[in-house]
Amino acid sequence: MGELSLHYAGPILHASDLDTAVAAARTAQAGWAALPYGERARRLRQAGRFMGERIDALTGVIQQDTGKLPLDALSAEIVPAFMALDYYLRRGRRFLASRPTGAGSPLMFNKRGRLIFRPYGVVGIISPWNYPFAIPFSEAVMALLAGNAVILKTASDTPGSGRALAAIFAAAELPPSLFAYAEIPGREAGPAFIASGIDKLFFTGSTETGRALMALAAPRLLPLVLELGGADAAVVCADADLDRAASGLIWAAYANAGQSCGGAQRILIHQAVYSAFMEQFTAKVRALRPGIDLGPMASLRQKETVEGQIAACLAQGAVIAAQSPGAGAMEGAERFVPAVALTQVNSSMPVMAGEIFGPVAALIPVADDEEAVRMANASPYGLTGSVWSRSPARAKALAGRINAGAVMINDHLMSHGLAETPWGGFGDSGLGRTHGEMGFREMLKAQAVVDDLLPGVKRDLWWQPYSEGVYRGIRAIADLLGGTSLGIRLRALPGMDLPFLLTVNTLCTKH
Ligand code: NAD
Repeated sequence: MGELSLHYAGPILHASDLDTAVAAARTAQAGWAALPYGERARRLRQAGRFMGERIDALTGVIQQDTGKLPLDALSAEIVPAFMALDYYLRRGRRFLASRPTGAGSPLMFNKRGRLIFRPYGVVGIISPWNYPFAIPFSEAVMALLAGNAVILKTASDTPGSGRALAAIFAAAELPPSLFAYAEIPGREAGPAFIASGIDKLFFTGSTETGRALMALAAPRLLPLVLELGGADAAVVCADADLDRAASGLIWAAYANAGQSCGGAQRILIHQAVYSAFMEQFTAKVRALRPGIDLGPMASLRQKETVEGQIAACLAQGAVIAAQSPGAGAMEGAERFVPAVALTQVNSSMPVMAGEIFGPVAALIPVADDEEAVRMANASPYGLTGSVWSRSPARAKALAGRINAGAVMINDHLMSHGLAETPWGGFGDSGLGRTHGEMGFREMLKAQAVVDDLLPGVKRDLWWQPYSEGVYRGIRAIADLLGGTSLGIRLRALPGMDLPFLLTVNTLCTKH
């Protein structure tokens, strides 16, 4: 971390300093947005080079913050960050380019619209502790490439990752104050960010906090993107490759110690393959090696929360079908929760009714695809989901019926790493999108500019002074457009009579 902190100016430590930071960021942003895209991209490429020279140091920082296994830190934080940077650098210019709205009705032949995309100004980013690097990194890259300034707050439990991000963006030689990093407690951050004058807030975290932020933002009509909790369903069809499904869902349920918003939590298995799938899945749970395949939880607080949720499920009749070995002497053993596969669950248990942010999955038999869809959609959340089937047609049809922002076929969760794929939830999982073109556009205000192609015409037909002839003509146009039969449309034509046409002629010729 030494080599990272060398370049780091220091965080905002008090919520009361946010206003000043936002004001300074706003001044810097005007010049930044005026730079050609290529120059903004060049600076962010420098940040990428800085990261590239420090991959092991960054992995170490993320591990230190979260207790993640090195492979989890590399595969789900560092590599996706590089992929995101590369993708947005290549595509940003196109996402920012203005585009025509296209012609609408021939009646408005003289009007031509274009959409232009303008940065919001100063965007706030508040990010969680479970992916403390990749999530804020790609949001900040999109924001900056789009021409915004950024005020970033990472979770209080992960200051190392936040400082590493500050060092990385410092390496981009951004204008002073364009990027600021805040280390302030979560409960102070909401009111302070919203009152600070930021122009948009990107929040990733729990649904509860997301709701509170939305309420705080309402009086200002501050736009928000909310990336919130999840309790994903995975549907294992009767024709699934069970070996692949079991391996993929082990990863999706237990990687990152199960602390993934889009982790598999409710595994819905067709009854014809339930026993065979159970056998494979439970064997793989028991084979997970502590400290090698399964790491500790990020905090004692989180361990206690998850243990309480498991206990509540068991008290209501759930059964542990399989559990991975205990921590032994691994590093972080005091924060370790073994992987747990639950059966005999019901809809009132925490594993079915809410989100368990830890290494817990429920295995549920279902009678058929219909029951699988019904149960998948029984959660208030809708972040991601998956369908496991050898039939592409069946898998696609089922995917389209699952209420979730992203559904993977024969995989789960990994689409967060696909920079080109929008990420975001339905229902209690949030609002708006991050990643891909849709995510990039969240950093921009779309403005329509409508031009008039006949500048010599002194007034439009519907402008004053109003007249009987113009009324009749416009009424006839309404019939022509909306008449429910050919007869009505034809009868409309005489309405466009001589006085009306003379008016049109006058408008077109009177300069
Ligand atoms: P959290 O809501 O407690 O905290 C998230 C961030 O918000 C942290 O930086 C925290 O300091 C800050 N915060 C806390 N209270 C705040 C407040 N009142 N106002 C403003 N900021 C506040 O969530 P968490 O425990 O850090 O993260 C876990 C949750 O995040 C889970 O529910 C998980 O599913 C969700 N999550 C969602 C996504 C996604 O992309 N949808 C990704 C990761 C995590």
